[in-house]
Amino acid sequence: MRPDTDGLKSTPPAGMGEATNGSAQHSFGCANVPRILMAEDNAINQRVGKLILQRAGFRIDVVHDGQEALDAHRQNPYDLILMDCHMPVMDGFEACREIRRTSERQPVIIAVTANALVGERERCLDAGMDDYLPKPFQAEQLIGVVQKWVGSPRLEPAQSRDGSVS
Ligand SMILES: [Mg+2]
Repeated sequence: MRPDTDGLKSTPPAGMGEATNGSAQHSFGCANVPRILMAEDNAINQRVGKLILQRAGFRIDVVHDGQEALDAHRQNPYDLILMDCHMPVMDGFEACREIRRTSERQPVIIAVTANALVGERERCLDAGMDDYLPKPFQAEQLIGVVQKWVGSPRLEPAQSRDGSVS
């Protein structure tokens, strides 16, 4: 299955373009705009999450389960994946383990799951997730955890005024 993409496809080959601001841990494929994938089986959560992140200036694709996340990342690697833990076909834990085991280009993976579940955070970290966002969350919390890992899409990297390349 193909991810639900939107906007113009202008992605250069992975690895082109390095983020030059010191705070970014990852290089982005396209002009300092990180590519984000949301794996989420609930249609309302998909729509809300996508809207929040798009309004914050991020590019985001949506898939419906862990297998689709795995396939989408293999096809065109993402900088960050928001991974719902509980999905049909392949859950977020297994998808994360598979990406950690098989992907050449490793994304930041943020677990998104209900905070009521005891031991869920540890389970996520054990599966290889980098961070954890409990549901339900506020828009600022979602944006905050994404920015924590990949920075803000509206912040341009430092550039020399005279156009010189150092
Ligand atoms: Mg779910």
